[in-house]
Amino acid sequence: MKSFLSPLVFDREINDTVFEAAQGAHEATARLGDEHVVNGAFGTLFNESGQLWTFSSVYEAFDKLPAVQKAKYASSIYGSKEFHEAVQKWLFGSFTPPSPYEIIATPGGTGALASTVKNALAPGETLILPNIGWGPYTTIAKEAQLDVQTYQLFDGEAFHLEDFKTTLRHSLERQGKAVVFFNDPCQNPTGYTLTADEWGGVYTALEELSTLGPIVFVYDIAYVDFNLRKDDYKVNFHRLFELPESILTVITFSASKTLSAYGMRVGAQVLITQNEDELRKFKAACGNTARGVWSTVNNGGMALMHAVACQPEVTKAYTLERDDALAILKQRATLFVEEAKTVGLELYPYKEGFFATIRLEDSVLKNEVHLALKTENIFFVNVVGGLRVALCSIPLHKIKGLAQRVKQVIERVETTV
Ligand code: PLP
Repeated sequence: MKSFLSPLVFDREINDTVFEAAQGAHEATARLGDEHVVNGAFGTLFNESGQLWTFSSVYEAFDKLPAVQKAKYASSIYGSKEFHEAVQKWLFGSFTPPSPYEIIATPGGTGALASTVKNALAPGETLILPNIGWGPYTTIAKEAQLDVQTYQLFDGEAFHLEDFKTTLRHSLERQGKAVVFFNDPCQNPTGYTLTADEWGGVYTALEELSTLGPIVFVYDIAYVDFNLRKDDYKVNFHRLFELPESILTVITFSASKTLSAYGMRVGAQVLITQNEDELRKFKAACGNTARGVWSTVNNGGMALMHAVACQPEVTKAYTLERDDALAILKQRATLFVEEAKTVGLELYPYKEGFFATIRLEDSVLKNEVHLALKTENIFFVNVVGGLRVALCSIPLHKIKGLAQRVKQVIERVETTV
């Protein structure tokens, strides 16, 4: 019998390491009680009492929205006008971009990433990813039937600019185009943020390489509102408007993290290029994807983003709550990184954000340590080159001593593999 499945999707078993690790943590918590479990699996922000951190400013603003606003379809497949105004204000503030750009609402950052690659590459072409990155990047590539090539994220403790350049050049020479995912600030899973000098190198590299062919620079800013410089980081966006015509930047924005409203499913693509004809065509293609895949984005969620970005009293209340969360996150990270240093637990260079990653490059050792930690009721996510620790979801009192516990498990496992 012919399969019910198309031959193109016969191999779509999904093994999502984040959901799998989180499931293990939930089961252990149900069995043993919360105090005995370290749930460092799920990438959502939890408060110090172990509850999902919901900002009152956000949900009070949501509750004030009229039911009709929440119930109706958005006014456009590209997202409502007020949502566009909100994203523009949130990302660019008082800066007036010198060249045209377009904003398209998407279901979360994931929708923005998926629509971008679907419309930038044909099946069989190659998407460039960081070698250590958010797991679903490869799922997105698979969904669009793309091959994947990776650039090394780090050269020692710094961004590996040379490998970034080589990988893009190779793609431009081979397929006449390069489409690359770039996640900054607070990179998932390492917590790395490029320095201003490193960003200068990236911009120069993009400018030089763009003489070889078109580049789609997919700039994933999912954690932008949890970087320690806060809105000052966003100055980095200005130079995107000066890049040459043969570069299309797609900023992918996620309201999931910004508002700590993951289930709301709101995000955006921000298309930036000096090539106005290509801008118009790319926007139209993404509009077609929207209409043909998800239709319109959650209207109440878009109105909520508008309230948070454009109603000064809501913005103010939100900022206070977000700053509290940022301060707690910083305390957790400082404690973990300091203790890791003291006990000799090697991490990838962590700067800020939701996650840090324990460096375990030997994958046999890494897998064994991952399993052994589970038996100690410590749950992390198994990623390329290490184990991701979700600082966003572990309260401070459980971080105390955690690095040492992990180090002891590694030492024990090392004697057996
Ligand atoms: N990009 C990165 C690096 C992420 O970690 C996530 C979520 O975990 C996303 C994008 C997309 O998030 P969402 O689709 O929930 O907005």
